[in-house]
Amino acid sequence: MDIKELVRSTVNAEIVKSRQFIIAANWKMNKNMKEVFLFIDELKKRYTGKKRNSVILFPPYPYVMLAQELLKNTDISYGLQNIHWESSGAFTGEVSPLMARDLGCQYAIIGHSERRNIFFENDEMINKKIKAALAEGIIPVLCLGEDMEARRENRHRDIIRKQLYEGMADADISLQNRIIIAYEPVWAIGSGATAASNQIEEMHGYINSLLCELYGSDIASGIPVLYGGSVNPGNIQDLAVVKNVSGFLIGGASLKVKDFLKIIELLE
Ligand code: PEP
Repeated sequence: MDIKELVRSTVNAEIVKSRQFIIAANWKMNKNMKEVFLFIDELKKRYTGKKRNSVILFPPYPYVMLAQELLKNTDISYGLQNIHWESSGAFTGEVSPLMARDLGCQYAIIGHSERRNIFFENDEMINKKIKAALAEGIIPVLCLGEDMEARRENRHRDIIRKQLYEGMADADISLQNRIIIAYEPVWAIGSGATAASNQIEEMHGYINSLLCELYGSDIASGIPVLYGGSVNPGNIQDLAVVKNVSGFLIGGASLKVKDFLKIIELLE
């Protein structure tokens, strides 16, 4: 390692240590019961004691109760990957915020790009989910992200602005101050093409400015903005020093406990 590289890595290590990160695992529709058990068992063994950072798991619905059981008396939180906006009723296949709370979930991912693109969720539906989650005391992780076409056409800021404004319309977070935003460019999800540091810095800065517009700087400064899109143990240290990044929403690299633990360890 030459001297410049040594200085850079020392400075970066100091920056990482001075921050508090949220490290969230989105398992999507993956894993069976045994794999969930083994993952959490290993995570618990290696991740003990009160840490500076927070870890949140988002297992598939059927394994949430197992996660609840296994994560008792740990510092690791868990949540749902999606919720419906009604509390109960004739909505076959859906799960309500009330049920999420019943299962001890503190969080719910809302508006993930896979929900938007594959299941046709629009900003109006996402807004209903945000409000319903807040009403039940569930912390929404609102996902925002532009696709490649929008970025090529230089419309990425407009997309983010629309998703944030419409997703959060009339949602009162002033009392709870409890929402997490995840910036996840669609072209970076599962593609191996992580957004560049300057793109992330620009978009997180932009999201912060929108949050200031919406809620004022005091509240906005307390809203974590996570980055998601092909995060892995190899790029986490570079991403962790990007300005305004408060943590990560991780898909693929959160499936193997070894990789996930490596990420956690590199952020400590
Ligand atoms: C995600 O789906 O939220 C995600 C960021 O996936 P990946 O890490 O695999 O890109």
